[in-house]
Amino acid sequence: MKWLKRKDKKRPNYSSKRCPNCATELPLRMTVCLECKQKLGEVDRYGIAKKPTDWKAYTICIIAWTVFIGYVYWAFIYKKT
Ligand SMILES: [Zn+2]
Repeated sequence: MKWLKRKDKKRPNYSSKRCPNCATELPLRMTVCLECKQKLGEVDRYGIAKKPTDWKAYTICIIAWTVFIGYVYWAFIYKKT
């Protein structure tokens, strides 16, 4: 029964998923919880929706660090030459 296990792991056979925040059952295609407005990702193998990666926050963080490092470089290294 190895093949069956592998298949189950790859594609969980759930018809609904649970919100990780408030445990409300929601249809699989929902991307936002109806109860608490939490953003939802795909269902995991326990039937609970994953929290999607917040790419916007990551991007803002990376840009902020790039600007900061760029400023430090400009202020302390570039001026000396
Ligand atoms: Zn919820």
